[in-house]
Amino acid sequence: MIYEPYISLSREALLRVIAEQMSEKRFRHVLGVERVALELADRYACDPVKASLAALLHDYAKEQPDSVFLDLIDRYQLNPTLKTWGNNVWHGLVGRYLITEQFGLTDEEILTAIARHTVGASDMTLLDKVIYVADYIEPGRDFPGVETARQLAAEDLDKAVAYETARTIEHLTYKGLPIYPQTLETYNAYVRYL
Ligand code: GDP
Ligand code: FE
Ligand code: FE
Repeated sequence: MIYEPYISLSREALLRVIAEQMSEKRFRHVLGVERVALELADRYACDPVKASLAALLHDYAKEQPDSVFLDLIDRYQLNPTLKTWGNNVWHGLVGRYLITEQFGLTDEEILTAIARHTVGASDMTLLDKVIYVADYIEPGRDFPGVETARQLAAEDLDKAVAYETARTIEHLTYKGLPIYPQTLETYNAYVRYL
């Protein structure tokens, strides 16, 4: 895979930098997300180079300390209420700025897919959906409902987005965790596909 013009690293060099930033387990997850993202890109006619890069970088910031995200929120003058959330919400929405700084990646489509991979959006692009769904169904995932999500992903990407979002909200409410408003917006926009 050739990553020019989006980033100037070879695939080999990129994988090395990504692997250095995370546990072996998370790196395997990232490779699994890439594999599924490429399958979905093929199935739904999405750009495979963008799918590969967004998948490989989607959790790049996940193991950064909170201080890194709080600093990025300040420097990029993001909504200060973001600070009341945590790593789960930050690693995509704020992590995209770290990725631009570290890789010189400025492609808005790739960065948006990375930003939205956890919480989705009411108006997701094809690439956003591919990454959002691939993250949920990659082969290393094992939880009740993942098989249904895999079947839906093979059938209809919007149904898979709707199913994943509904299950995520169910899980968060069951655990008594706060739901980021954008996650609810995703649910409302896709609930008709359930
Ligand atoms: P991962 O990074 O590959 O583990 O997957 P995600 O980025 O999709 O999700 C990371 C974590 O964020 C998971 O535990 C999700 O359940 C959680 N999560 C997803 N949406 C929300 C939300 O709206 N609010 C909160 N608090 N957590 C969320
Ligand atoms: Fe993630
Ligand atoms: Fe992930």
